[in-house]
Amino acid sequence: MSLESVITKSDYYIDLETHCGAHNYHPLPVVLQKGEGIFVWDVEGRRYFDFLSAYSAVNQGHCHPKIISTLVAQAQKLTLTSRAFYSAALAEFSEYITRYFGYDKVLPMNTGAEGVETALKLCRHWGYRVKKIPENKAKIIVCEGNFHGRTLGIVSFSTDPGSKKDFGPFLSGFEIIPYNDLPALSRVLQDPDIAGFLVEPIQGEAGVVLPDDGYLAKAKQYCEDANVLFIADEIQTGLCRTGKPLACDHEKVRPDILILGKALSGGTLPISAVLADDSIMLTLQPGEHGSTYGGNPLASKIAITSLEVLQQEKMAENAEAMGGYFREGLARLNSPHILEIRGKGLLNAIVIGHHDPQAAWNLCMEMKKNGLLAKPTHGDKIRFAPPLIINQEALSESLQIIEKSLKVLD
Ligand code: PLP
Repeated sequence: MSLESVITKSDYYIDLETHCGAHNYHPLPVVLQKGEGIFVWDVEGRRYFDFLSAYSAVNQGHCHPKIISTLVAQAQKLTLTSRAFYSAALAEFSEYITRYFGYDKVLPMNTGAEGVETALKLCRHWGYRVKKIPENKAKIIVCEGNFHGRTLGIVSFSTDPGSKKDFGPFLSGFEIIPYNDLPALSRVLQDPDIAGFLVEPIQGEAGVVLPDDGYLAKAKQYCEDANVLFIADEIQTGLCRTGKPLACDHEKVRPDILILGKALSGGTLPISAVLADDSIMLTLQPGEHGSTYGGNPLASKIAITSLEVLQQEKMAENAEAMGGYFREGLARLNSPHILEIRGKGLLNAIVIGHHDPQAAWNLCMEMKKNGLLAKPTHGDKIRFAPPLIINQEALSESLQIIEKSLKVLD
């Protein structure tokens, strides 16, 4: 038998990507070629429950028929105009999303990181033009353990050494405080040059770190009292993932600047959006910010359908109900290897307790073998975030896979 004939299709593609692609990711060794609803299939035809949902970009499920049908129809009509001209689709999207979330204005971008950069620029603009902070003095408060993307501006205030090492010099103007620490926030807010507070309602990449109940509401109040903008990065937590349209809704908090991304396209293409009222958004004048692809007709139509589907199919309600069911199921496993179970709606994580530092990775490999895909974050945590259309039957099958796989750690 020749050596070639024993190399699997998966091996072939993994080798090819490793050979020709940059090594800036460390994927689980599975090569996917098809997705439908809560499932993905690899090149050998094996089916998996997708418990990552492309980091919550596929909340509506893979290749949602309504979203794909909008994509195909609009792709055959008009895809890109640039913002040199108006488009009917962008006008419709702007009206739809501002009504949906109750803001005066929207600024469309593409990736999540661009959405965050936009929010930061907007906040600084407001700081100078409305709050009258002296030139080049504006500061924005951020939290330890944050993840807001990978641009130079954003990694400037990351506290993850791997995101920063050998990428300097960095952007200044950020005050880093511990997450979930109201006294620290209150202290820093005394500085009159603070323009905004950027926060994830739940820290997703950090391993689904939930703040105490009441933190967001109090933080918003503190910001209001200090005339500082409360900026919520809901790129991962938004769009029904945590059991409400926005994670801030759990505490009835209305951010001054709201950043959305990921599931705004149901996993089809990069679409992000920044929402704010006129007093903030209209500080931006023509030529001060933009993007060739931001708000393109294809993205605009897809975003409308992605939002419609979330509402029509009651995905917030399902995430809330299924999240509870899933966490109870995990608790019932009573595994000695699970130190902690945490989450809200269908944004969940377990913390693995094991002498082997590779235990979380090994468990993910075993779950893959048994038909479920998830990925460790920060070494010992595994996020479980399936598409929001998952039902009880599929969750109980998934729990059985997790239970069986945990035995690999015995
Ligand atoms: N903000 C948060 C909270 C995220 O979780 C992410 C991505 O995981 C981003 C921003 C960056 O989004 P993107 O990868 O689309 O640039």
